[in-house]
Amino acid sequence: MAEDEDLKATVRTIPDYPKPGIMFRDITTLLGDARAFRRAVDLLVQPYAGGKIDQVAGIEARGFILGGAVAHQLSAGFVPIRKKGKLPHQTVRMAYALEYGTDEMEIHVDAIRPGEKVILIDDLIATGGTAEGAVKLLRQIGAEVVAACFIIDLPDLGGADKLRAMGVPVRTLMAFGGH
Ligand code: AMP
Repeated sequence: MAEDEDLKATVRTIPDYPKPGIMFRDITTLLGDARAFRRAVDLLVQPYAGGKIDQVAGIEARGFILGGAVAHQLSAGFVPIRKKGKLPHQTVRMAYALEYGTDEMEIHVDAIRPGEKVILIDDLIATGGTAEGAVKLLRQIGAEVVAACFIIDLPDLGGADKLRAMGVPVRTLMAFGGH
């Protein structure tokens, strides 16, 4: 799909944040632009409209903003995937790779009924470590992960390919080269 240049122009790039050499792709400027926010949600939803998605899973924290809007549009439920220690009920936990070391994320053990069709949402996929952990969590509690959707792909870091190799179709709306 051709990139939407107007939409891409609403993403702000902050060089050397949070550390030297990183180009931080800031979506707060996209979210704060009413037309861009609506357009991004419409584009994310398009392939799944009428497709009987049961749940949308969002990754803390930017995935909550987008995932909530997408779930509403699809008349689906919303399921949060959170950093460890934040969810009050019984959880399933998964370690995932960060640039240096690992962290853990959790989902409520009963958030999804076995066999439910789920799409995973986050703002950006870089190395894919976060999304890979989220897919494993969802599968562990019985979800059928129909797709993983992101506004931004950093293809040089290989995350989208990593998810595809796990059998998860990936949808992204725009790509930026480099880190
Ligand atoms: P990864 O696990 O490497 O795919 O990293 C994905 C997570 O880190 C997402 O939740 C992004 O919000 C965040 N992230 C990684 N790289 C960037 C970047 N260059 N700009 C903004 N957010 C990023």
